[in-house]
Amino acid sequence: MKFSDLRLNKPLLDAVRAAGYETPTPIQAQVIPLILDRKDVLGCAQTGTGKTAAFALPILQCLDTGQSPNRNGRGRSHTRNIRALVLAPTRELAKQISDSFSAYGRFTKLKRTVVFGGVNKNPQTNILRSGVDILVATPGRLLDHMSDGTATLDSLEILVLDEADRMLDMGFMPDIRRILTKVPKKRQTLLLSATMPPPIRDLAKDILENPVSVEVARVSSPAENIAHWAYRVEKKEKPALLRTVLENTPFSRALVFTRTKHGADKVVRHLTQGGVSADAIHGNKSQNARTRALAGFRSGRTAVLVATDIAARGLDIDDISHVINYDLTTEPETYVHRIGRTGRAGATGTALSFVSGEDYESLRAIERLIRTPLQPAPDLPGYVAPKVIAVQPSRKPHTASRKNGSASQQKHRFGTKNSSRKRSSRGRRGTRSAVAS
Ligand code: AMP
Repeated sequence: MKFSDLRLNKPLLDAVRAAGYETPTPIQAQVIPLILDRKDVLGCAQTGTGKTAAFALPILQCLDTGQSPNRNGRGRSHTRNIRALVLAPTRELAKQISDSFSAYGRFTKLKRTVVFGGVNKNPQTNILRSGVDILVATPGRLLDHMSDGTATLDSLEILVLDEADRMLDMGFMPDIRRILTKVPKKRQTLLLSATMPPPIRDLAKDILENPVSVEVARVSSPAENIAHWAYRVEKKEKPALLRTVLENTPFSRALVFTRTKHGADKVVRHLTQGGVSADAIHGNKSQNARTRALAGFRSGRTAVLVATDIAARGLDIDDISHVINYDLTTEPETYVHRIGRTGRAGATGTALSFVSGEDYESLRAIERLIRTPLQPAPDLPGYVAPKVIAVQPSRKPHTASRKNGSASQQKHRFGTKNSSRKRSSRGRRGTRSAVAS
């Protein structure tokens, strides 16, 4: 399958070539023709599957050739009303989607912009007033602009809800419902979500018309090329273990998840004190600080980015070799979202989870959802892997013994290459279950 088999026209094919893509990803191969045929689509796909291009390319083509449903063949629009709206849960994701529209639309004359909260509204207002064809927005800030009268959706032809499950998790459903009352009934709607919990299915029933369902991976199954390893560790030993893991693992970029903002800052302090370049992104950081942290991580200046789940939504950074669940999540879907940051575009990735006594139920839920047991990670200097990772909380926690004292006392050079090569040869779907039930 080639991009040219998907009925994309020259400006889009040229942009795809400029982006360096050779073949469409599975979701692109399935979704692009559907959108060009003006179908509503319910897409179950996680980040890293190429879903942004899957909707951005055909939307650009529909708008550029003036063949969208509300145009009725009237040809290219000369006014600049908002014709396509993409709603996304976070500013980072919104910005990345908007950047994708710029890249894929570089050989068209379509104008796009992005609006999100946490930054001054005036520059956004000015751009909206000048007229855009495509608007990417987070729901709250879009509602602000709508009530100011700077964003009107009367001429909307295509509506996209991206990462709908995250928007649900983040409490955006009422905002989305309000926005939906202001868009034309006759429109094309695309709803994308990594998981399909019942409220998303209900929303899909309400807003999609005869949708075609597309699922790239099995619902909630993470990419196949990701190894899932778990370390058994008590809470207070996590900082030392993190350093040991990083010191003994060759990695390109590591993304570390903590449960709280405060926890993220603590991890960064601990790593920095140990000579590891690390930065944090979370909701207490200013937009500038987040942008700086992301830029440092992208450029490779910062080796480790520590994030909370909300701040990390939609991070579009390739070449993250390791996702580390410093704090395991209690929501199994979040595990899938987290590890969706590694193993992208066919690369292999590793997900490492720190599991303490209280995580028993969470670990079970994750293993049930991904239908793969997390494997006990191999020994490290100062860490001896137990045979089972999680034991019932009623029993005494099964702590790993520490051969050589505390991991923090070990002298390792950051990024030395040894254990992970051995690790990959153990295979990712071993026979031992990490859960003792
Ligand atoms: P997404 O799932 O939209 O977040 O995309 C994940 C990553 O895959 C992005 O960095 C894209 O630039 C990249 N990508 C998208 N489509 C392709 C493709 N057909 N070939 C190679 N990389 C792609």
